[in-house]
Amino acid sequence: MGLFSRSKPKIKIQTTKKDGFSGWLKCTHCNELIHTNELEQNGNCCPKCDYHYRLTVDERINSLIDPDSFQEMFSALDAVDQLHFVDTESYVSRLESAKKKSGRNEAVVVGVGKIDGNRVAFGVMDFNFMGGSMGSVVGERLTLIIEHAIKENLPVIIVSSSGGARMQESVLSLMQMAKTSAALAKLSEAGMPYISVLTNPTTGGVTASFASLGDIIIAEPNALICFAGPRVIEQTIGHQLPPGAQKSEFLLQHGMIDCIVNRRMLKDKLGELLSFFNHASSSTNSEKIKRKS
Ligand SMILES: [Zn+2]
Repeated sequence: MGLFSRSKPKIKIQTTKKDGFSGWLKCTHCNELIHTNELEQNGNCCPKCDYHYRLTVDERINSLIDPDSFQEMFSALDAVDQLHFVDTESYVSRLESAKKKSGRNEAVVVGVGKIDGNRVAFGVMDFNFMGGSMGSVVGERLTLIIEHAIKENLPVIIVSSSGGARMQESVLSLMQMAKTSAALAKLSEAGMPYISVLTNPTTGGVTASFASLGDIIIAEPNALICFAGPRVIEQTIGHQLPPGAQKSEFLLQHGMIDCIVNRRMLKDKLGELLSFFNHASSSTNSEKIKRKS
């Protein structure tokens, strides 16, 4: 897992307090000392170098969705071990430990809520659940929320962070790429916008499907966004990649994403885009009505 950055700075500064932790951490990016309180107040971004540490699902929902407006949907869907897959550990026991570790039953949470008063269908991936890997339930929940958005005329926002396909579900996992992409095509036919938000890291089958299909694709700064990770590519081609390759800033230069938005500005940006789309769709609707009459 060395490829992926940590959700919190790792080095803790010890004191003589009972629990041995002073609240001071060393940023893994700039090596400066930072305090946990400061880190929390700053949206889990380093106050010194602005490195964006990972957010939990709850932190992400709280940072983007208007208070008390989020309603989770399709949470009863549960993963099934169709293939009776066992590697060094069985899939069933991996699922159990992921549930314990994350306090959730799958690697994505979907539902409806409001951003700056704009209604939206929303999905956020949970990297703490088996590396945010896309199994059948992840694909199905995303597809269901997109279909719900089509029915209810809602724009869709999905915040991705993923290690890619879930190997333990083999081809059933890969099929989710086609399914989510087809659902988004229908959303587009229905004239509703989809905003994809890429966070560190977004890789593999998720990058290769719904994460890259946004009408607008936003990334957080310095996020790893790729299909195969840099080490795999370097081992395959026998060359080193240029510095910063596969990071948000590089992808923006090469046209794969539309903009990079700092986490503290993300809610404002999404609210602005949703208001724009709402206004645009209501004016096209009134155009249609005018033309009919
Ligand atoms: Zn830092």
